[in-house]
Amino acid sequence: MKSKIVLLGPPGAGKGTQGEKLENELGYVRLSTGDMLREAVRKGTSLGVKAKTYMDAGALVPNDLIINLMKEKIASLGNNAGIIFDGFPRTVEQAEALDQAVDIDLAIDLNVADKVLVERLTQRRTCPQCNAVYHLAYNPPKKAGFCDKCGSVLYQRDDDKEATVKNRLEVYRKNTLPLVDYYKKAGKLTVIDGTGDIETIFDQVKKALN
Ligand code: ADP
Ligand code: ADP
Ligand code: ZN
Repeated sequence: MKSKIVLLGPPGAGKGTQGEKLENELGYVRLSTGDMLREAVRKGTSLGVKAKTYMDAGALVPNDLIINLMKEKIASLGNNAGIIFDGFPRTVEQAEALDQAVDIDLAIDLNVADKVLVERLTQRRTCPQCNAVYHLAYNPPKKAGFCDKCGSVLYQRDDDKEATVKNRLEVYRKNTLPLVDYYKKAGKLTVIDGTGDIETIFDQVKKALN
């Protein structure tokens, strides 16, 4: 099975949802820069203080901060770990830094139309404790308002409100979309339709890993 996997795709494409399943069912380690940054903000670390204004605006946190954070994480895992990169890289500069740190085996691009993304993001609910994500209509928790996995009270991320969502989609198009080409040129790209049933998409993702 392929070992070092990048999940590409716009905000709301399902990277976290699929990455969580890969972690729980296939034993990959999921590294989500978004989750790491939110934890840093909650703890009030110096990284969190620096990152917060960018995140609130739906802008990208500066490359040097993100690249250092990821390099430390990767070094702490050792060479043999199967890793899912979720939400990283988001710029060509980040992708180049990642290529220096590990050999990426595969980049999966989850393809979803903008209109669907807005609907997904504005109704997303997130667990502050274990980072599980839900959707009010498409993937609701068993008990409304509470995480199935750890029982914590779910919340709506500030940047999942409509005004910020629009900006994040623009930022994606400008800075992150070029990565589709970057991995295509490297012969590492697989495109998967990110609409439809979560399980059906997961079957396709698993096939791409073999
Ligand atoms: P990303 O990590 O790419 O931003 P998420 O995995 O957090 O995306 O998914 C965004 C929202 O869409 C969440 O509310 C999630 O529950 C929902 N979602 C994920 N996959 C699907 C799907 N295949 N169909 C419908 N809703 C989905
Ligand atoms: P989503 O699940 O919608 O794709 P994330 O949780 O990955 O969003 O990211 C939330 C915010 O954290 C981004 O809008 C950005 O401000 C910051 N962020 C996360 N990953 C990166 C990254 N690789 N480079 C720069 N900023 C990042
Ligand atoms: Zn939870």
